[in-house]
Amino acid sequence: MAARVDRPDIFWELTRSLCPECKRVIDAQILFRENRVIMRKRCPSHGWFEALVFGDAKLYAAIAPFNKPGTLPLQFQTEVRDGCPHDCGLCPEHKQHACLGLIEINSACNLDCPLCFANSGTHLARDGFELDHGQVGFMLDSFVAAEGTPEVVQLSGGEPTLHPLLLDFVAMAQDRGIRHVMINSNGLRLAHDDRLLSRLADLKPTVYLQFDGFDPGTNLLLRGRQDLVETKLKTLDRLAEADVRAVLVAAIERGVNDHEIGAIVDFGLRHPAVFGVNFQPAFRAQRHLAMDPMNRMTIPDVLKSLELQTAGRFRMDDFVPVPCCMPTCNFVTYALLSGDEVTPITRLVDVEGHLDYLKNRTLATFDQEILATLERLWSSSAPVGSDVSAGDVHRAVNGAASRCPACHVGLPLSSHGSTDLARHVFMVNTRDFMDPWTFNVKNVMKCCVEFIIPDGRLIPFCAYNSVGYREQVTAQLNRVARTP
Ligand code: SF4
Ligand code: SF4
Ligand SMILES: [Zn+2]
Repeated sequence: MAARVDRPDIFWELTRSLCPECKRVIDAQILFRENRVIMRKRCPSHGWFEALVFGDAKLYAAIAPFNKPGTLPLQFQTEVRDGCPHDCGLCPEHKQHACLGLIEINSACNLDCPLCFANSGTHLARDGFELDHGQVGFMLDSFVAAEGTPEVVQLSGGEPTLHPLLLDFVAMAQDRGIRHVMINSNGLRLAHDDRLLSRLADLKPTVYLQFDGFDPGTNLLLRGRQDLVETKLKTLDRLAEADVRAVLVAAIERGVNDHEIGAIVDFGLRHPAVFGVNFQPAFRAQRHLAMDPMNRMTIPDVLKSLELQTAGRFRMDDFVPVPCCMPTCNFVTYALLSGDEVTPITRLVDVEGHLDYLKNRTLATFDQEILATLERLWSSSAPVGSDVSAGDVHRAVNGAASRCPACHVGLPLSSHGSTDLARHVFMVNTRDFMDPWTFNVKNVMKCCVEFIIPDGRLIPFCAYNSVGYREQVTAQLNRVARTP
């Protein structure tokens, strides 16, 4: 008689996803297999698909409590009609407000990267779109109407520094009370455009700088050119001179630049313009490299590599999930810097205990004020590299009146200028955006990073890139741009 055997995986839950071929919404199983989390799904027309969604099943299960109740926005822009993810948005069933709004102000770029979720490129200088004052003003107003006082807006593209009105848009966001404006840039233009740099020095946005590593091969494979590093280093030096802050943003592709994770952080820690690093495992939305969806980088893979490559300077357990979105989306830590010493604040304060929403009320040391401070830091609206966040880090560690642990001489915090405080703090985060392979409706329903589109809707990042919204918006904008 044949013996029964066990299945090779643990069935964790059922959710909904997309068919990577036709994008229709289909059921998806979340399975734990050999301590990895796999999404398995079937499209009636295109068959079965499996993709790796998280490289550590134990961690995936353990972080479920890092999930804070969502906050209602002041306004929803759409109604529930066809069901998630086709009603964005935000529709009244969305579980979180928008912590961060993104506006793509143009579609053209001065690079043609093989990896580009915006599907941008040099050819769009001719055929693409550029938003005007009226459009961006309306989009910012829509964001303000939904959020009251939004914390952070990112101006992106394309390459936003190619847009002649970029600086006007920065000022327009600031005029509407949005304190933290970020510019998502590949940095090429900033390496030589003095006028642009001096205006940035006045307006003080943060530059979110594409920076994938130092190897010419990395830049060739991901960005289509191997000669980019020198230009980016020059840009960073110029930003430092102009006192404009930068966050390095690295797309990490397995087998391409996963060996550079530690070097990027080590470099960032030493460079005066750099206040943080953001690692984004490469995802397969729009233009991407041909890679095996079962062998992609995920958050635990990035963090394990970071621990190994920095010899434990940053450890995996220094990182705590951000609870404003689903905990599998985004992990963050902040470190205090003192000379060569790097101390993640998780080693000084019980961040996990406070941000574990099943446990925190029972903690003997639970403190509402520390919770509020940590919630500001562990949020997608945390203004990275800002004096505000640095103040929060110091408050969380010590309480406002005590001495700064990052100063050798232990200066009281009250003796620090806010800029000095910010220079003592460094953020590292890793956010795993979803693509049609890994798309999980459960995550997108609580997404807190939204594209603001010209009709005033707010579309969750991963829905925008995977469901078909990007294609609709781009087609419309390009059509309008071409209409005489
Ligand atoms: S992702 Fe959010 S806004 Fe979009 S349809 Fe789903 S619940 Fe609504
Ligand atoms: S990834 Fe960025 S730099 Fe590269 S083509 Fe796209 S928009 Fe341009
Ligand atoms: Zn299909």
